[in-house]
Amino acid sequence: RAKAEGKNTYRLFNHSMNDKAVESLLIENDLRKAIKYDKLRLVYQPKIDLHDGRIIGVEALVRWDLDNGEVMSPGEFIPMAEETGLIVPLGKWVLDEACRQQRLWLDRGFKVGSVAVNLSPRQFLQIEFPDFIQSVLDKHQLEPSCLELEITESSAMENAQQSVQMLKRLHSMGVALAMDDFGTGYSSLAYLKRFPIDTLKIDRSFIRDIYHDSNDAAIAKSIIDLGHNMGLKVVAEGIESSDQKQWLKKQGCDYAQGFFFSKPISANEVEESFCHIRRKLELVASNDIGHG
Ligand code: C2E
Ligand code: MG
Ligand code: MG
Ligand code: MG
Repeated sequence: RAKAEGKNTYRLFNHSMNDKAVESLLIENDLRKAIKYDKLRLVYQPKIDLHDGRIIGVEALVRWDLDNGEVMSPGEFIPMAEETGLIVPLGKWVLDEACRQQRLWLDRGFKVGSVAVNLSPRQFLQIEFPDFIQSVLDKHQLEPSCLELEITESSAMENAQQSVQMLKRLHSMGVALAMDDFGTGYSSLAYLKRFPIDTLKIDRSFIRDIYHDSNDAAIAKSIIDLGHNMGLKVVAEGIESSDQKQWLKKQGCDYAQGFFFSKPISANEVEESFCHIRRKLELVASNDIGHG
């Protein structure tokens, strides 16, 4: 019986392995085409200054529009792109597109602050990566400070030695550097000190229950203090409520991002919200004159 079961299990295992392999091959092919035929798109999520509520930057997040009308989120295809190496052309497209959009915004007078782009380890650790960044900045005539690069804590720590070298090269070029999903990786403080970064982003998982879970609150507070003691700015990810916002503001967190402020939105919607803010300011100004 054991033997029969074993055989059966093997067959099932083998079968599902095949399915998986076929499926990922299909997705790989589709993604290759999507990159080639412009089926990828960027949405942008604002980062807010907790002290005055101003937008200090936007983070670019990639979306894949499938032929059947559905949208695939990066959590579903970035790992596969990373495995197959497709992340290199995909990552180049994302960087070029984010910089193109930033140039457009600047030309039209929209000061959105820096545009942040997420990087995967395989893309980031390419020896020619800094040259590529420089060529994109030159192409779109951007100051390096217009661009921020986000690398997750866990991928930075995976190749800590190489990451330090790469981050140093990028830092010396003047691009802003952020460590994403902070608190979920196994950071050694010795390395953290050696990473020439500007910003820590507290992972969403610690923010979710910040108001009810004293452990999460303690972790978030520790990250804010750690960041500040190292001269870094701290961003909280995934803020969904006013309570979370108030708490973080009280703890001295610098910036915040999350559905409470804005979901990721299209480039056009970013412009619309800026126009909206501008109209409000003009109204305030004209009222001031009126009553002046
Ligand atoms: P991330 O960089 O940590 O981005 C934050 C993710 O959390 C985004 O999901 C965003 O939509 C979501 N989010 C933001 N605020 C809230 C909130 O208040 N509540 C909830 N529940 N979620 C919130 P998204 O766009 O699905 O991206 C997931 C991850 O995929 C990103 O995590 C990033 O690591 C990766 N990613 C996205 N775009 C790219 C890209 O162009 N290149 C690479 N290499 N990775 C990317
Ligand atoms: Mg990010
Ligand atoms: Mg994150
Ligand atoms: Mg995250």
